[in-house]
Amino acid sequence: MDLVEKALDYIKTNDVKFIRFQFVDILGAPKNVAYPVKPGEKGLEELREILTEGIHFDGSSIKGFVPIEHSDMLLKPDLSTLSVLPWRPTEKSVARVICDVYTPEGKPFEGDPRSCLKKIMNQLKEDLNGEYFVGPEPEFFLVKPDPHNPHRMIPADIGGYFDMEPLDDAPDIRRDIVLALENLGFHVEASHHEVAPGQHEVDFKFDNALKTADSVVTFKTTIKMIAKKYGLMATFMPKPFYGMNGNGMHCHQSVWLDGKPSFYDENGPYQLSETCLSYIAGILEHAKAIVAITNPTVNSYKRLVPGYEAPVNIAWANKNRSAIIRVPAIRGKGTRIEFRAPDPSCNPYLAFTVMLAAGLDGIKKKLTPPEPVERNIFTMSDKEKKELGIESVPSNLKEALEELENDPVLKKALGDHIYEQFMEIKTAEWDSFRTSVTDWEIKTYLRIL
Ligand code: GLU
Ligand code: MG
Ligand code: MG
Repeated sequence: MDLVEKALDYIKTNDVKFIRFQFVDILGAPKNVAYPVKPGEKGLEELREILTEGIHFDGSSIKGFVPIEHSDMLLKPDLSTLSVLPWRPTEKSVARVICDVYTPEGKPFEGDPRSCLKKIMNQLKEDLNGEYFVGPEPEFFLVKPDPHNPHRMIPADIGGYFDMEPLDDAPDIRRDIVLALENLGFHVEASHHEVAPGQHEVDFKFDNALKTADSVVTFKTTIKMIAKKYGLMATFMPKPFYGMNGNGMHCHQSVWLDGKPSFYDENGPYQLSETCLSYIAGILEHAKAIVAITNPTVNSYKRLVPGYEAPVNIAWANKNRSAIIRVPAIRGKGTRIEFRAPDPSCNPYLAFTVMLAAGLDGIKKKLTPPEPVERNIFTMSDKEKKELGIESVPSNLKEALEELENDPVLKKALGDHIYEQFMEIKTAEWDSFRTSVTDWEIKTYLRIL
Protein backbone atom coordinates (compact mmCIF):
# COMPACT_ATOMS: atom_id res chain seq x y z
CA MET A 1 0.00 0.00 0.00
CA ASP A 2 1.38 3.43 -0.81
CA LEU A 3 1.78 6.08 1.91
CA VAL A 4 -1.40 7.99 1.01
CA GLU A 5 -3.60 4.86 1.09
CA LYS A 6 -1.94 3.83 4.36
CA ALA A 7 -2.67 7.27 5.84
CA LEU A 8 -6.30 7.08 4.69
CA ASP A 9 -6.59 3.70 6.37
CA TYR A 10 -5.08 5.05 9.60
CA ILE A 11 -7.46 8.01 9.55
CA LYS A 12 -10.47 5.71 9.19
CA THR A 13 -9.36 3.15 11.79
CA ASN A 14 -8.64 5.83 14.37
CA ASP A 15 -11.85 7.81 13.76
CA VAL A 16 -9.75 10.90 12.89
CA LYS A 17 -11.91 14.00 12.39
CA PHE A 18 -9.19 16.66 12.42
CA ILE A 19 -5.76 16.56 10.84
CA ARG A 20 -3.34 19.17 12.01
CA PHE A 21 -0.74 20.17 9.44
CA GLN A 22 2.22 21.08 11.64
CA PHE A 23 5.52 22.88 11.08
CA VAL A 24 7.80 25.15 13.12
CA ASP A 25 8.72 28.81 12.80
CA ILE A 26 12.33 29.98 12.81
CA LEU A 27 12.49 29.83 16.63
CA GLY A 28 11.21 26.24 16.69
CA ALA A 29 7.72 27.14 17.97
CA PRO A 30 5.21 24.60 16.67
CA LYS A 31 2.45 25.97 14.45
CA ASN A 32 -0.46 24.20 12.84
CA VAL A 33 -3.63 24.48 10.82
CA ALA A 34 -6.40 21.93 11.36
CA TYR A 35 -8.24 20.31 8.46
CA PRO A 36 -11.65 18.70 9.19
CA VAL A 37 -12.16 15.33 7.51
CA LYS A 38 -15.48 15.22 5.65
CA PRO A 39 -17.75 12.19 5.21
CA GLY A 40 -18.63 10.35 2.00
CA GLU A 41 -16.90 9.70 -1.31
CA LYS A 42 -16.43 13.40 -1.99
CA GLY A 43 -14.80 13.91 1.42
CA LEU A 44 -12.46 11.02 0.73
CA GLU A 45 -11.43 12.45 -2.64
CA GLU A 46 -10.71 15.87 -1.07
CA LEU A 47 -8.68 14.26 1.71
CA ARG A 48 -6.71 12.15 -0.77
CA GLU A 49 -5.84 15.26 -2.72
CA ILE A 50 -4.78 17.19 0.37
CA LEU A 51 -2.61 14.36 1.63
CA THR A 52 -0.96 14.14 -1.78
CA GLU A 53 -0.63 17.80 -2.75
CA GLY A 54 -0.56 19.54 0.65
CA ILE A 55 -2.53 22.46 2.06
CA HIS A 56 -2.12 26.17 1.24
CA PHE A 57 -1.65 28.73 4.00
CA ASP A 58 -0.67 32.34 4.53
CA GLY A 59 2.80 32.41 6.03
CA SER A 60 3.15 36.16 6.39
CA SER A 61 2.58 36.24 10.16
CA ILE A 62 4.92 33.34 10.94
CA LYS A 63 8.17 34.38 12.64
CA GLY A 64 11.04 34.29 10.20
CA PHE A 65 8.85 33.47 7.18
CA VAL A 66 8.87 36.91 5.54
CA PRO A 67 9.25 38.40 2.89
CA ILE A 68 5.66 39.22 2.26
CA GLU A 69 5.71 38.39 -1.46
CA HIS A 70 5.97 34.75 -0.42
CA SER A 71 2.98 34.88 1.92
CA ASP A 72 1.13 32.12 0.03
CA MET A 73 2.79 28.90 0.98
CA LEU A 74 2.17 25.21 0.86
CA LEU A 75 2.41 22.62 3.66
CA LYS A 76 3.37 19.24 2.23
CA PRO A 77 2.76 16.46 4.76
CA ASP A 78 5.41 13.90 5.61
CA LEU A 79 2.91 11.06 5.95
CA SER A 80 5.32 8.88 7.91
CA THR A 81 4.73 11.27 10.85
CA LEU A 82 0.91 10.99 10.92
CA SER A 83 -0.11 10.25 14.50
CA VAL A 84 -3.15 10.63 16.74
CA LEU A 85 -2.64 13.16 19.56
CA PRO A 86 -3.17 11.24 22.80
CA TRP A 87 -4.27 14.30 24.83
CA ARG A 88 -7.20 15.02 22.49
CA PRO A 89 -10.58 13.17 22.54
CA THR A 90 -10.52 9.52 21.38
CA GLU A 91 -13.82 9.86 19.53
CA LYS A 92 -13.62 12.08 16.48
CA SER A 93 -9.93 12.16 17.26
CA VAL A 94 -7.20 14.60 16.25
CA ALA A 95 -4.08 13.54 14.36
CA ARG A 96 -1.09 15.59 13.41
CA VAL A 97 1.24 15.32 10.50
CA ILE A 98 4.57 17.11 10.28
CA CYS A 99 5.00 19.08 7.08
CA ASP A 100 7.66 20.59 4.86
CA VAL A 101 7.02 24.15 3.78
CA TYR A 102 7.00 24.83 0.04
CA THR A 103 6.61 27.98 -2.03
CA PRO A 104 3.57 28.15 -4.33
CA GLU A 105 5.98 27.37 -7.20
CA GLY A 106 6.60 24.00 -5.58
CA LYS A 107 10.13 24.66 -4.31
CA PRO A 108 11.22 23.93 -0.71
CA PHE A 109 10.92 27.23 1.19
CA GLU A 110 14.39 28.38 2.23
CA GLY A 111 13.04 29.72 5.55
CA ASP A 112 11.77 26.29 6.61
CA PRO A 113 14.01 24.92 9.38
CA ARG A 114 13.04 21.31 8.55
CA SER A 115 14.24 21.76 4.96
CA CYS A 116 17.44 23.33 6.24
CA LEU A 117 18.25 20.21 8.27
CA LYS A 118 17.29 17.95 5.37
CA LYS A 119 19.66 19.86 3.13
CA ILE A 120 22.76 19.30 5.25
CA MET A 121 21.78 15.67 5.88
CA ASN A 122 21.52 15.21 2.10
CA GLN A 123 24.91 16.83 1.70
CA LEU A 124 26.39 14.31 4.15
CA LYS A 125 24.75 11.52 2.17
CA GLU A 126 26.07 12.83 -1.16
CA ASP A 127 29.60 13.71 -0.02
CA LEU A 128 30.39 10.80 2.27
CA ASN A 129 27.46 8.39 1.98
CA GLY A 130 26.82 9.29 5.61
CA GLU A 131 23.94 9.47 8.05
CA TYR A 132 23.65 11.61 11.16
CA PHE A 133 22.14 10.34 14.41
CA VAL A 134 21.17 12.35 17.49
CA GLY A 135 19.92 11.32 20.93
CA PRO A 136 18.87 14.36 22.98
CA GLU A 137 18.34 14.64 26.74
CA PRO A 138 15.83 17.47 27.20
CA GLU A 139 15.23 18.55 30.80
CA PHE A 140 12.27 20.53 32.09
CA PHE A 141 10.71 21.96 35.24
CA LEU A 142 7.16 21.49 36.47
CA VAL A 143 6.15 24.76 38.11
CA LYS A 144 3.12 26.18 39.93
CA PRO A 145 2.16 29.68 41.12
CA ASP A 146 3.71 30.73 44.44
CA PRO A 147 0.83 30.81 46.98
CA HIS A 148 2.42 33.95 48.54
CA ASN A 149 2.93 35.75 45.24
CA PRO A 150 0.68 34.72 42.35
CA HIS A 151 2.90 36.56 39.82
CA ARG A 152 5.78 34.22 40.57
CA MET A 153 6.18 30.59 39.54
CA ILE A 154 7.96 28.12 41.84
CA PRO A 155 9.10 24.49 41.42
CA ALA A 156 6.18 22.12 41.87
CA ASP A 157 8.00 19.80 44.32
CA ILE A 158 11.03 19.54 46.59
CA GLY A 159 12.56 16.38 45.09
CA GLY A 160 16.17 16.02 43.92
CA TYR A 161 18.16 13.69 41.66
CA PHE A 162 16.47 10.27 41.28
CA ASP A 163 14.22 10.95 44.31
CA MET A 164 11.02 8.97 44.84
CA GLU A 165 7.65 9.90 46.25
CA PRO A 166 6.82 11.57 48.63
CA LEU A 167 9.67 13.99 47.77
CA ASP A 168 9.09 13.52 44.05
CA ASP A 169 5.55 14.75 43.49
CA ALA A 170 5.39 13.84 39.83
CA PRO A 171 5.51 10.02 39.36
CA ASP A 172 1.94 10.05 38.02
CA ILE A 173 2.71 12.92 35.65
CA ARG A 174 5.85 11.22 34.33
CA ARG A 175 3.87 7.96 33.99
CA ASP A 176 1.26 9.75 31.87
CA ILE A 177 3.97 11.50 29.87
CA VAL A 178 5.72 8.21 29.08
CA LEU A 179 2.43 6.50 28.11
CA ALA A 180 1.48 9.43 25.87
CA LEU A 181 4.91 9.44 24.23
CA GLU A 182 4.68 5.69 23.62
CA ASN A 183 1.29 6.22 21.96
CA LEU A 184 3.03 8.72 19.71
CA GLY A 185 5.57 6.10 18.71
CA PHE A 186 8.46 7.09 20.98
CA HIS A 187 10.88 4.51 22.33
CA VAL A 188 11.27 5.91 25.86
CA GLU A 189 14.45 4.77 27.59
CA ALA A 190 14.05 6.16 31.11
CA SER A 191 12.46 8.89 33.16
CA HIS A 192 13.51 10.37 36.49
CA HIS A 193 13.49 13.35 38.80
CA GLU A 194 16.42 15.65 38.01
CA VAL A 195 18.78 17.53 40.36
CA ALA A 196 16.76 20.70 40.99
CA PRO A 197 13.40 20.81 42.81
CA GLY A 198 10.59 20.36 40.29
CA GLN A 199 13.05 19.32 37.54
CA HIS A 200 12.63 16.17 35.44
CA GLU A 201 14.09 14.26 32.53
CA VAL A 202 12.56 11.76 30.10
CA ASP A 203 15.00 10.14 27.69
CA PHE A 204 14.09 8.63 24.35
CA LYS A 205 16.10 6.56 21.91
CA PHE A 206 18.36 8.19 19.34
CA ASP A 207 17.35 8.23 15.69
CA ASN A 208 18.37 10.01 12.52
CA ALA A 209 18.54 13.76 13.08
CA LEU A 210 15.36 14.59 11.15
CA LYS A 211 13.22 12.12 13.10
CA THR A 212 14.82 13.28 16.34
CA ALA A 213 14.16 16.96 15.60
CA ASP A 214 10.50 16.10 14.84
CA SER A 215 10.43 14.15 18.11
CA VAL A 216 11.83 17.03 20.17
CA VAL A 217 8.99 19.28 18.97
CA THR A 218 6.37 16.60 19.73
CA PHE A 219 8.02 15.83 23.06
CA LYS A 220 7.83 19.41 24.30
CA THR A 221 4.15 19.78 23.36
CA THR A 222 3.29 16.43 24.96
CA ILE A 223 4.96 17.35 28.22
CA LYS A 224 3.31 20.75 28.35
CA MET A 225 -0.14 19.24 27.66
CA ILE A 226 0.14 16.47 30.28
CA ALA A 227 1.44 18.94 32.90
CA LYS A 228 -1.55 21.15 32.15
CA LYS A 229 -3.94 18.27 32.86
CA TYR A 230 -2.45 18.18 36.36
CA GLY A 231 -2.86 21.94 36.85
CA LEU A 232 0.89 22.55 36.44
CA MET A 233 3.03 24.26 33.85
CA ALA A 234 6.02 22.59 32.21
CA THR A 235 8.85 24.89 31.18
CA PHE A 236 11.91 24.24 29.04
CA MET A 237 13.36 27.66 29.90
CA PRO A 238 17.13 27.13 30.23
CA LYS A 239 17.57 28.71 33.66
CA PRO A 240 14.24 29.40 35.34
CA PHE A 241 15.67 29.76 38.89
CA TYR A 242 18.81 31.48 40.10
CA GLY A 243 21.04 29.20 42.17
CA MET A 244 19.57 25.93 40.83
CA ASN A 245 20.51 23.64 37.93
CA GLY A 246 19.19 24.74 34.57
CA ASN A 247 17.53 22.78 31.77
CA GLY A 248 19.99 21.30 29.32
CA MET A 249 19.41 19.32 26.17
CA HIS A 250 22.67 17.42 25.84
CA CYS A 251 22.92 15.90 22.39
CA HIS A 252 24.52 12.49 21.93
CA GLN A 253 25.52 12.15 18.31
CA SER A 254 27.33 10.04 15.78
CA VAL A 255 27.87 9.76 12.08
CA TRP A 256 27.51 6.52 10.18
CA LEU A 257 29.37 6.04 6.91
CA ASP A 258 28.42 3.50 4.23
CA GLY A 259 25.66 2.23 6.52
CA LYS A 260 27.98 1.52 9.45
CA PRO A 261 28.85 3.35 12.71
CA SER A 262 32.07 5.29 12.10
CA PHE A 263 33.16 6.63 15.50
CA TYR A 264 34.77 3.43 16.87
CA ASP A 265 38.28 2.22 16.13
CA GLU A 266 39.66 -0.52 18.33
CA ASN A 267 43.22 0.69 17.70
CA GLY A 268 42.64 4.44 17.68
CA PRO A 269 43.48 6.82 20.53
CA TYR A 270 40.86 6.19 23.28
CA GLN A 271 39.45 3.63 20.80
CA LEU A 272 38.02 6.49 18.76
CA SER A 273 38.26 6.66 14.98
CA GLU A 274 39.87 9.47 13.00
CA THR A 275 36.37 10.43 11.82
CA CYS A 276 35.22 10.77 15.43
CA LEU A 277 38.27 12.82 16.46
CA SER A 278 37.85 15.14 13.47
CA TYR A 279 34.15 15.50 14.24
CA ILE A 280 35.04 16.50 17.81
CA ALA A 281 37.64 18.95 16.46
CA GLY A 282 35.05 20.47 14.13
CA ILE A 283 32.56 21.02 16.92
CA LEU A 284 35.25 22.57 19.14
CA GLU A 285 36.43 24.81 16.30
CA HIS A 286 32.92 26.19 15.73
CA ALA A 287 31.61 25.91 19.30
CA LYS A 288 31.41 29.65 19.98
CA ALA A 289 29.19 30.20 16.96
CA ILE A 290 27.20 26.97 17.41
CA VAL A 291 25.87 28.16 20.76
CA ALA A 292 24.13 31.12 19.09
CA ILE A 293 21.80 28.50 17.61
CA THR A 294 21.85 25.78 20.29
CA ASN A 295 21.52 28.33 23.12
CA PRO A 296 19.52 31.05 21.43
CA THR A 297 17.91 33.03 24.25
CA VAL A 298 19.10 35.74 26.63
CA ASN A 299 18.35 33.27 29.43
CA SER A 300 20.46 30.47 27.86
CA TYR A 301 23.66 32.18 29.04
CA LYS A 302 22.51 32.21 32.68
CA ARG A 303 22.74 28.41 32.49
CA LEU A 304 26.24 28.28 30.96
CA VAL A 305 28.02 29.17 34.22
CA PRO A 306 30.25 27.05 36.48
CA GLY A 307 28.78 24.94 39.25
CA TYR A 308 25.53 23.58 37.84
CA GLU A 309 26.67 20.67 35.60
CA ALA A 310 26.28 22.81 32.49
CA PRO A 311 29.43 23.23 30.41
CA VAL A 312 31.42 26.44 30.09
CA ASN A 313 34.73 25.31 28.68
CA ILE A 314 35.53 24.54 25.07
CA ALA A 315 37.34 21.26 25.55
CA TRP A 316 36.60 17.57 25.26
CA ALA A 317 36.91 14.80 27.78
CA ASN A 318 36.17 11.15 28.30
CA LYS A 319 34.68 11.49 31.78
CA ASN A 320 34.77 15.08 32.87
CA ARG A 321 31.39 16.83 32.69
CA SER A 322 32.87 20.32 32.91
CA ALA A 323 33.93 20.10 29.24
CA ILE A 324 31.56 20.97 26.42
CA ILE A 325 32.07 17.57 24.78
CA ARG A 326 32.14 14.32 26.70
CA VAL A 327 32.69 10.92 25.13
CA PRO A 328 30.56 8.38 27.04
CA ALA A 329 32.45 5.20 28.05
CA ILE A 330 30.55 2.89 25.68
CA ARG A 331 32.57 1.64 22.69
CA GLY A 332 31.75 -0.48 19.67
CA LYS A 333 28.75 0.47 17.58
CA GLY A 334 27.34 2.67 20.38
CA THR A 335 30.41 4.95 20.33
CA ARG A 336 29.21 8.55 20.31
CA ILE A 337 29.98 11.99 21.55
CA GLU A 338 27.84 14.07 23.90
CA PHE A 339 27.70 17.79 23.13
CA ARG A 340 26.55 19.31 26.41
CA ALA A 341 25.96 22.94 25.51
CA PRO A 342 22.49 22.85 23.90
CA ASP A 343 19.42 23.77 25.87
CA PRO A 344 15.80 22.98 25.03
CA SER A 345 14.96 26.57 24.04
CA CYS A 346 16.67 25.89 20.70
CA ASN A 347 15.02 25.10 17.40
CA PRO A 348 16.11 21.44 17.14
CA TYR A 349 16.19 21.48 13.31
CA LEU A 350 18.62 24.40 13.28
CA ALA A 351 20.59 23.10 16.26
CA PHE A 352 21.22 19.76 14.54
CA THR A 353 22.03 21.58 11.29
CA VAL A 354 24.85 23.63 12.81
CA MET A 355 26.24 20.76 14.87
CA LEU A 356 26.44 18.57 11.77
CA ALA A 357 27.88 21.42 9.69
CA ALA A 358 30.66 21.89 12.26
CA GLY A 359 31.39 18.18 12.62
CA LEU A 360 31.36 17.69 8.86
CA ASP A 361 33.76 20.59 8.43
CA GLY A 362 36.09 18.85 10.91
CA ILE A 363 35.85 15.55 9.00
CA LYS A 364 36.41 17.14 5.58
CA LYS A 365 39.39 19.19 6.78
CA LYS A 366 40.71 16.22 8.78
CA LEU A 367 41.06 18.44 11.85
CA THR A 368 42.63 16.94 14.96
CA PRO A 369 41.39 17.93 18.41
CA PRO A 370 43.67 18.89 21.29
CA GLU A 371 44.27 16.31 24.05
CA PRO A 372 41.20 15.56 26.20
CA VAL A 373 41.09 17.36 29.54
CA GLU A 374 40.26 14.92 32.31
CA ARG A 375 40.62 17.33 35.26
CA ASN A 376 37.69 19.36 36.52
CA ILE A 377 38.08 22.57 34.53
CA PHE A 378 35.79 24.46 36.92
CA THR A 379 38.55 24.30 39.56
CA MET A 380 41.39 25.47 37.24
CA SER A 381 42.73 29.01 37.43
CA ASP A 382 42.46 31.30 34.43
CA LYS A 383 46.22 30.97 33.99
CA GLU A 384 46.05 27.16 33.84
CA LYS A 385 43.20 27.31 31.34
CA LYS A 386 45.15 29.73 29.20
CA GLU A 387 48.22 27.48 29.25
CA LEU A 388 46.08 24.54 28.13
CA GLY A 389 44.39 26.69 25.49
CA ILE A 390 40.93 26.18 27.00
CA GLU A 391 38.54 28.92 26.03
CA SER A 392 35.04 29.63 27.33
CA VAL A 393 31.71 29.76 25.55
CA PRO A 394 30.34 33.26 24.88
CA SER A 395 28.99 34.82 28.05
CA ASN A 396 25.86 36.28 26.53
CA LEU A 397 23.62 36.13 23.47
CA LYS A 398 25.20 39.20 21.89
CA GLU A 399 28.70 37.67 21.96
CA ALA A 400 27.34 34.44 20.53
CA LEU A 401 25.62 36.28 17.66
CA GLU A 402 28.90 38.04 16.87
CA GLU A 403 30.64 34.66 16.70
CA LEU A 404 27.96 33.37 14.33
CA GLU A 405 28.40 36.42 12.16
CA ASN A 406 32.06 35.45 11.74
CA ASP A 407 31.47 31.80 10.95
CA PRO A 408 31.02 31.24 7.21
CA VAL A 409 30.59 27.47 7.56
CA LEU A 410 27.57 27.75 9.85
CA LYS A 411 26.13 30.69 7.90
CA LYS A 412 26.25 28.65 4.73
CA ALA A 413 24.54 25.71 6.41
CA LEU A 414 21.72 27.94 7.65
CA GLY A 415 21.32 29.66 4.30
CA ASP A 416 20.89 33.40 3.78
CA HIS A 417 17.20 33.56 4.60
CA ILE A 418 17.33 31.78 7.95
CA TYR A 419 20.63 33.38 8.94
CA GLU A 420 19.39 36.93 8.26
CA GLN A 421 16.00 36.46 9.87
CA PHE A 422 17.54 34.77 12.89
CA MET A 423 20.06 37.58 13.37
CA GLU A 424 17.40 40.24 13.09
CA ILE A 425 15.03 38.60 15.58
CA LYS A 426 17.77 37.75 18.06
CA THR A 427 19.49 41.15 17.87
CA ALA A 428 16.13 42.76 18.70
CA GLU A 429 15.72 40.29 21.59
CA TRP A 430 19.13 41.25 22.94
CA ASP A 431 18.40 44.97 22.61
CA SER A 432 15.11 44.59 24.44
CA PHE A 433 16.91 42.81 27.30
CA ARG A 434 19.85 45.24 27.30
CA THR A 435 17.61 48.25 27.72
CA SER A 436 15.27 46.77 30.32
CA VAL A 437 15.80 47.52 34.01
CA THR A 438 15.99 44.25 35.94
CA ASP A 439 14.99 43.35 39.51
CA TRP A 440 18.68 42.81 40.23
CA GLU A 441 19.48 46.43 39.38
CA ILE A 442 16.64 47.75 41.52
CA LYS A 443 17.73 45.56 44.46
CA THR A 444 21.41 46.46 44.06
CA TYR A 445 21.27 50.19 43.26
CA LEU A 446 17.97 51.89 44.04
CA ARG A 447 18.52 52.42 47.76
CA ILE A 448 22.24 53.06 47.82
CA LEU A 449 22.68 55.31 44.82
N1 GLU B 1 21.01 20.16 34.16
C1 GLU B 1 22.36 20.04 33.69
C2 GLU B 1 22.57 20.98 32.52
O1 GLU B 1 22.13 22.06 32.58
C3 GLU B 1 22.69 18.63 33.29
C4 GLU B 1 22.54 17.61 34.35
C5 GLU B 1 22.85 16.22 33.83
O2 GLU B 1 24.02 15.91 33.58
O3 GLU B 1 21.91 15.47 33.61
O4 GLU B 1 23.16 20.73 31.53
MG1 MG C 1 20.03 15.34 32.98
MG1 MG D 1 23.91 14.01 29.62
